[in-house]
Amino acid sequence: MMGPLLQGNRTKLNAGRPWRLPPSLLIVPYVGLLLTPLVLAYAQGLPTRKWQDELSSALALSAFAGLLIEFLLSGRFRFISDCIGIDTTMRFHQLLARSLTVFILVHPFLYVTPMMNHPFPWDTTGQHTLGLTGASFVTGLIAWLALMAMVLTAVFREQSSGSYEAWRFSHGLAALLVAVFGFLHTLAAGRYSGHSYLVYYWSALVGIALFTLLWVYALKPVWQLRHPYVVRSVQPIALRTWELVVEPKNGHTIDFSAGQFVWLNVGHSPFSLCENPFSVASAPASTDHLAFVIKEVGDFTRSIGQIEPGTVAHVDGPHGNLMIDGREAAGIALIAGGVGVAPLLSILRQLRQERDRRPIVLLYGNRVPEQIVYTEELCELQKGLDLHVEYVVGEPPPGSQARAGVIDPECVNDILGRPDAASWLYFVCGPLPMIESVEQALLAIGVPGIQIVSERFYYD
Ligand SMILES: Cc1cc2nc3c(=O)[nH]c(=O)nc-3n(C[C@H](O)[C@H](O)[C@H](O)COP(=O)(O)OP(=O)(O)OC[C@H]3O[C@@H](n4cnc5c(N)ncnc54)[C@H](O)[C@@H]3O)c2cc1C
Repeated sequence: MMGPLLQGNRTKLNAGRPWRLPPSLLIVPYVGLLLTPLVLAYAQGLPTRKWQDELSSALALSAFAGLLIEFLLSGRFRFISDCIGIDTTMRFHQLLARSLTVFILVHPFLYVTPMMNHPFPWDTTGQHTLGLTGASFVTGLIAWLALMAMVLTAVFREQSSGSYEAWRFSHGLAALLVAVFGFLHTLAAGRYSGHSYLVYYWSALVGIALFTLLWVYALKPVWQLRHPYVVRSVQPIALRTWELVVEPKNGHTIDFSAGQFVWLNVGHSPFSLCENPFSVASAPASTDHLAFVIKEVGDFTRSIGQIEPGTVAHVDGPHGNLMIDGREAAGIALIAGGVGVAPLLSILRQLRQERDRRPIVLLYGNRVPEQIVYTEELCELQKGLDLHVEYVVGEPPPGSQARAGVIDPECVNDILGRPDAASWLYFVCGPLPMIESVEQALLAIGVPGIQIVSERFYYD
C-alpha cells in the first residue's frame, strides 16, 4: 500500500515531467516519410518498366528520403532524444544510415534499361532509356562518393588517429554534400522526381536537413553565447576522476530533470566543435550550479585539471530520457558502473531534497576502491533516505566491506531479487557489457522492460 507521503512524492515528481511523445508513435511518421515518395511516384501513373528498374528507383527514392530524415536524428532535437533516449537515437541513426547507404550504393547498378545521355525524343516516359546527362551523372557521383566516405569514416572512426572533433566536422560536411548533390541528382536524373509534388517533397526534406545544421551549428550557439556559464571549481575526487562545477554567469540556468545530460563546452566559442556530453550530477533543485563527475578518457577529459575557475563555459541541454520524473515505482534501484554513477547521483540528490520515502538501492561497481566517488556524501544520504548502498569492487583490498567481483546477474539477483522486484524502477548506467548483463538479469527476475531505464556513454 502506498502511504500518503509517498503519494505526495509521486505527484510532485509527476508534476515536473516534460511532455514526451510515446516512442512507438515516432515510427509511424518515420515509415510514412519513407513511403511518401513511392506513393507520389506511383500516383504519376507512368508506364511500368522492367522490375529491376522499378526496384532501383524505389530504393533510391526511399533511401534518399531516409538519409534526409537522418539529419533530424543527429540534430539534438529533444522531441526525439527525450522520448527514446540519446543512445537509442544514435543507434537508430547508425543502423539506418548503414542500411540506407547500401540501398543508395547499389541502386545505380540495378538498372537494366540502357542509360543514354539524352533519351530518345519519342520515349517521353523514360520507359526504354534512362536519361543521364553530364550534370545528373556528376551530381550523383559526388553524392554517392560523399556518402560512401561518410559511412566508412564513421564505421572505422575508432581505428583512426584523428580527433573526435575533426571527424565530426568531416561527417557534417559530407552529410551536407550528400543532401545538396543528392537533391540536384534526384531532380535531374529521377524519372519520377521531376514531377512537381516530388519536387516539393524533396525541397521540404532538404530544407529540414539544412535547418538541422543551422540549428546545431548557428542558432543554438547564438543562444549559448547569450547564456554563458563560468567554472566555479575543479577538483580531483577519485582516481582519474574530477568534479567540475559551473554556475550561470547571468543567473539563467537550464531546467533539467535529474539524470539528464548536457553538451558541455569549456573555454571555447560556442561555435567551435569542442564540446562533450556529460550527465549533470547535481540535483535540479540546486539551481545555482551544475556539477559534473568526469573521468579521464581522452584529449578534453585528461586536461580537466588545467581548467581555471572563472573560465567561460557553454551548455547545450538538457537531453536524454534517463530521468525519474513522471515514472511510477514502489522502489528505486540505481545500478552504476564507474563514472556511470554521475546521473544516478543527480537522482539520489534530488530524491533527498524531495524527502522521498521509497526504498532505494544503489549498486555501485568499480574496479578498485580508489575509483569510488563521494563515499562520505553517500553515507550521509543514507541517513536522510531509505537508502542501501552496495559497493561492488573488482579488486577489493583485504578486509574490505565491499562485495568482491563485478555487477553480474548473480550480484543483481542477490541484491535486487526481491518479491516485489517488478514494481521497482531500475536506472542502469555504466560500461555497455555491464548494462546488457544487468538488463538481462533484471528481465530474468521478472522486471518488465518498461521499468528499466539505461544509458550508455559511448555509441560505438
Ligand atoms: C549521454 C552521455 C553522458 C555522458 N556522461 C558522462 C559523465 O557524466 N561523466 C564522464 O566522465 N563521461 C560521460 N560521458 C562520456 C564522455 O562524453 C566522454 O568520455 C568524453 O566526451 C570524452 O572526451 P575526450 O575529449 O576526453 O576523449 P575523446 O578521445 O575525444 O573521445 C572519446 C570518446 O568519447 C565520445 N565523445 C567524445 N566527444 C563526443 C561528443 N562531442 N559527442 C559524443 N560523443 C563524444 C566518443 O565516443 C569518443 O570516441 C557521457 C557520454 C554520453 C554520450
